Amino acid sequence: MKEQQNQQSDVAMNIAIDAGVLTRCKQHEEVVLNAGRDTQEAFLLGNERFSKGELGNVFTFRREMTDAIKDIVAAHQADTCPNCAKQ
Ligand SMILES: [Zn+2]
Repeated sequence: MKEQQNQQSDVAMNIAIDAGVLTRCKQHEEVVLNAGRDTQEAFLLGNERFSKGELGNVFTFRREMTDAIKDIVAAHQADTCPNCAKQ
């Protein structure tokens, strides 16, 4: 169950990043930032991939996928990297 959730988060993260809603700091790959785009963009991309079967069996329902995207975007609201800010 926990593993499934992690997998869902990973996939949701990739969708959000590919859609340009979230972005990785160029200096710190582990830091994910908000790119300022509407979350809707990630939903559209996620729906497209879900329809094409590209997400495998990670999500049973479309709704699980959009919820995971919503959560991952909500968890990454900062648009400046704290590690960069320290330098
Ligand atoms: Zn950084």
